[in-house]
Amino acid sequence: MPELPEVETVRKGLENHLKDRVIVDVELRRKDLRFPFPNGFDEIMKGKKILKIERRAKYLLIRLSGGKTWLCHLGMSGRWTLIGDGKEAVPGRFNYGGEIGSGQGPHDWVVIHLDDGGKGVYSDHRRFGIMDIFDTKKQNEHKLLKSIGPEPMPDSLTPEILSDKLKRKIPIKNALLDQKIIAGLGNIYVCEILNRAGISPKRKAETLVKKNGVGERIKKLVFEIHSVMIEAIDAGGSTLQDFRGVEGDDALGYFPNSFVVYGREGEDCLKESCNGIIKRIIQSNRSTFYCPKCQK
Ligand SMILES: [Zn+2]
Repeated sequence: MPELPEVETVRKGLENHLKDRVIVDVELRRKDLRFPFPNGFDEIMKGKKILKIERRAKYLLIRLSGGKTWLCHLGMSGRWTLIGDGKEAVPGRFNYGGEIGSGQGPHDWVVIHLDDGGKGVYSDHRRFGIMDIFDTKKQNEHKLLKSIGPEPMPDSLTPEILSDKLKRKIPIKNALLDQKIIAGLGNIYVCEILNRAGISPKRKAETLVKKNGVGERIKKLVFEIHSVMIEAIDAGGSTLQDFRGVEGDDALGYFPNSFVVYGREGEDCLKESCNGIIKRIIQSNRSTFYCPKCQK
């Protein structure tokens, strides 16, 4: 599943090539993805200029002329391929071998035709992706966007804000995965963050909160949230299985080599002077990897 860093990579790739282009035609090859396409979706987009592409959590927000925003979530397996002059991308191949992204593939559901003759192809073999279109000025009322917590970045998430949100009796691992507490942190990254911060994933969130002021452990946690996300975005995301960036694979795939706990059950903890062994447990049906020795 594409996580926030991968979505950010897709955002940059799409913006590099789609900014200032006009959508001249839209082909919808189904009536739905995870949800039905909104009424008149293709007609509303026709003739609109793409002004810029932003991101909120894992939602791509494609700002269009006419005060509209086109929302796109990649779900489990959504993927954009750009085809045309100066933006040729090698069509991807999923694990099971089906060719996608050519605009003619069996999982190419949305094709946008641009004023320069190029095409943007959205493919999604599992169809958990989401598309919607809404009035940009009503973004704060949008059902999918209105309750999302702050972005895990220094300009949005501070120790004070997180401390306030962690007054909960749930394990810290589950709290960090809750999109209402922080936007866009996925399972792999939460495991890495907690290891770096030296916090047990099983610890109750509220035990990190000090009665007066913000404690050192929350400050360390927020520092590691920022660091892990910035490093992952710089590396272009983790490229899990069939995810690829819109500009091809070259920019992707570096971060997984530096995972310190994820997928390392039974191996040595990599922290200096810790000789713990990485353990795997299940929390809320998700694998948690952690070091019982240095994560308290
Ligand atoms: Zn350790």
